[in-house]
Amino acid sequence: MKALTFQGVRDVRVTDAPDPVLREPTDALVRVELAAICGSDLHPFRGHERGLDAGTVLGHEFQGEVIAVGSAVERWRPGDRVVAPFSTSCGQCAACARGLTSRCERGQLFGWVQGGHGLHGGQAELVRVPLADGSLVRIPDGTDPALLFAGDILSTGMFLAELGEVSPGSTVAVIGCGPVGLMAILAARARGAAQVFALDVLPERLALATEFGATAVHAADRSARPKGVDAALEAVGSPESTRLAYDVVRAGAVIAAAGVHTEERFAITPGEVYDKNLTYRAGRAPARRFMEAALDLGRRAGVARIVSHRLPLAEAREGYRIFDERLDRATKVLLEP
Ligand SMILES: [Zn+2]
Ligand SMILES: [Zn+2]
Repeated sequence: MKALTFQGVRDVRVTDAPDPVLREPTDALVRVELAAICGSDLHPFRGHERGLDAGTVLGHEFQGEVIAVGSAVERWRPGDRVVAPFSTSCGQCAACARGLTSRCERGQLFGWVQGGHGLHGGQAELVRVPLADGSLVRIPDGTDPALLFAGDILSTGMFLAELGEVSPGSTVAVIGCGPVGLMAILAARARGAAQVFALDVLPERLALATEFGATAVHAADRSARPKGVDAALEAVGSPESTRLAYDVVRAGAVIAAAGVHTEERFAITPGEVYDKNLTYRAGRAPARRFMEAALDLGRRAGVARIVSHRLPLAEAREGYRIFDERLDRATKVLLEP
């Protein structure tokens, strides 16, 4: 099959890769119809996260059609149309029972193979999905990106709003209006937030934030920043964004973080947390728990408008370059096998 494979830092290529096969009785094979490049795909691409094997098929946002299932798969048959969360989950272990599917005892991230162990991703013609019964969610016909987004960015945005305890009447600051931040705006509004401030520096992102009902604030304009919001939803994953979140929340607020942080120290000190009586919550979104609700919210809210590029899989290398360098106002890049 054709697949986008990681070769090294800033080196991804569409290559021939071995066709995936059913390995476990709980596996399914999915023919990918639509995939996307996620901001977190840029971490290994840029060398911020290390350890990925050369030859790893990247990608953890995909939807498609089931073409084969293992003998223990009960929910799926060939021909079923599905979307996957970015990591697999069994639905039965203690973490899954608690709703923390992203920390499933048997779960794996798509698109991460290290030292020969791990799971290839979905920027490919075919993908193997372990724990298919627990992981996959049914979708209707068609390749509406709203369906795809339920598996990662929209579920992550909903998780952020939950972590931030956003409730009717809340005031919220969303730090960073990339795809996850934009989805967090929608999620906060769906939970009844009275006002959502959207902080970024890129005009095209602020414009989308406004379309989704937020009050756009240029993050570099100190005088325009909100003061004393109930929750900051930090969707970047950098020390600067943590600092910005700290600056805009009220005492007793929650800072919720869903970006992948790669720095070694907290940008705020224990004393600063004490001085504002803050709660800081972070972690990998348990996307699977949110997916059914995300499918519904995504279609109602018209999330497909964040898509800036739709390329054939064969041009995925160019897609990474466009997304990495934010060329041509790139917001979200889709790949079609
Ligand atoms: Zn992702
Ligand atoms: Zn589990």
